[in-house]
Amino acid sequence: SAAPVSNFIRTIIDGDLASGKHSSIVTRFPPEPNGYLHVGHAKSICLNFGLAKDYNGKCNLRFDDTNPEKENAEYAQSIQDDVRWLGFQWNGEVRWASDYFDALYDFAVELINKGLAYVDDLTPEQMREYRGTLTQPGRNSPNRDRSVAENLDLFRRMKAGEFADGAMVLRAKIDMSSPNINLRDPVIYRIKRAHHIRTGDKWCIYPMYDYTHCISDALEGITHSICTLEFEDHRPLYDWVLDNITIPCHPRQYEFSRLELHYTITSKRKLLQLVNEKKVSGWDDPRMPTISGMRRRGYTPEGIREFAKRIGVSKSENIVDMAIMEGAIREDLELRAPRVMAIINPLKVTITNADGAQTREADFHPNMPELGKRVVPFSKDLFIEADDFAEVPPAGWKRLTLGGEIRLRHSYVMRCDEAVKDATGKVVELKCSIDHDTLGKNPEGRKVKGVIHFLSKEHALPAEIRLYDRLFTVPEPDADRDVDFCTHLNPASLTVVQGWVEAAVRDAAPETRYQFERLGYFVTDRRDHQPGGKLVFNRTVTLRDSWAK
Ligand code: ATP
Ligand code: MG
Ligand code: MG
Repeated sequence: SAAPVSNFIRTIIDGDLASGKHSSIVTRFPPEPNGYLHVGHAKSICLNFGLAKDYNGKCNLRFDDTNPEKENAEYAQSIQDDVRWLGFQWNGEVRWASDYFDALYDFAVELINKGLAYVDDLTPEQMREYRGTLTQPGRNSPNRDRSVAENLDLFRRMKAGEFADGAMVLRAKIDMSSPNINLRDPVIYRIKRAHHIRTGDKWCIYPMYDYTHCISDALEGITHSICTLEFEDHRPLYDWVLDNITIPCHPRQYEFSRLELHYTITSKRKLLQLVNEKKVSGWDDPRMPTISGMRRRGYTPEGIREFAKRIGVSKSENIVDMAIMEGAIREDLELRAPRVMAIINPLKVTITNADGAQTREADFHPNMPELGKRVVPFSKDLFIEADDFAEVPPAGWKRLTLGGEIRLRHSYVMRCDEAVKDATGKVVELKCSIDHDTLGKNPEGRKVKGVIHFLSKEHALPAEIRLYDRLFTVPEPDADRDVDFCTHLNPASLTVVQGWVEAAVRDAAPETRYQFERLGYFVTDRRDHQPGGKLVFNRTVTLRDSWAK
């Protein structure tokens, strides 16, 4: 909706375009294919692809595939599906950092030739010791002054597989006493015999992220390389690498704050733990903050994009309330989801004077006649929601009570004449009568305020209805490093009920969204729902904010 909201990155881009530094922009979204994308990635996608769209530029999708043991093709596929589902298309072909392995190797040789990189065979413990700490400068490795010839020979033999995994590394020669630890001769290549999803067993050395990322950006002609704040301290290394190799392009890195959401987690590693430990049904479990989980929950791409717009882009760290996401989703669904009736917890109603009762047609949406109409059947045996009846009503009760009247949505005014109880005193059935003169018009001489939804029992279809609550019981489940975040899982995050729905939804395809009047927004499950067969609905969000406390 409407114009984009400005932010500090847009201000920078506006300046770069105005000054002629760039004539158009190129951004990129660079996920590692080591898990499914989550809501934090959605923010980054909306930012990078959104900028490209608004400025008539380009956004690349590049896989940062430099950790072969953690990466797989399923993850890479899911990431592409998620980006497209969110409504974005990348520039040209998908890119892979592994496409640049040869170039990255050649640039490393260039650094060695310039005396700016060396092979080091200190043990990892020695490396750590030499590196120093935040308060203590590091010390030069005894291998720092190896000759160029020796470094070239060792690096070539690292590549040729002559040394064991971890036996040595290639390091950039920068400054062991820099206050920025990232500049204390960072490792840029390591030996790792791991099968890579794209290069197979061709390589047994792999470049490190910081070294790979800046060069990949430059090779692709990225103008604005946008990442999260934890990379701010890596920016000097990003610039050092590009300043010291022969490459015509030097992208600029800008950092913004990560998205974090209350009552959930935004770390692929922890989400993977939930999947592996079967705390959820999979990456796309509707309780997961993954893009595929949100999709299966019934969130819309438009709603998620609106959420990203509302939270904005800045450098200040804050944790966002789930209510902001749910508000954006609800507002989107309100405008377009057809409205039908469903019953989650049925109470049987027998109409004692149903003879001659009529059915009526009703619009699927009050403001969208183009969504059409359906018949709302009426008959002697109905279901209403059990909590729409109270024998002893609390003050202000607008629903049904003994002797009281309500309007059945899209149908008659009905009075409750008798509550039938079982041996335990529980109300199991209501005997009610309708005013035959109230179909589509107000009753004479009295006002009936309450409206409740209902279903005709013989026409209703059974459906599995899945109701969700927050996944964790505390706002910041991973705040305490000493406590496993899984101890905060909400045991009641999923409730499955056998409910009833209008026959009008019988043939709905998977991923069809509805408002069930008064109950919330629901979507037919992407995996388990069968049109015309087993009906399965997930509650996307309630009609009102149930998070505010
Ligand atoms: P995780 O810690 O969950 O593994 P990551 O940053 O390692 O996340 P990547 O696949 O490297 O995951 O991320 C791709 C892009 O998404 C990066 O540019 C990263 O900055 C961005 N991103 C990741 N998490 C968030 C977040 N919570 N908020 C905003 N952007 C994020
Ligand atoms: Mg990463
Ligand atoms: Mg990561």
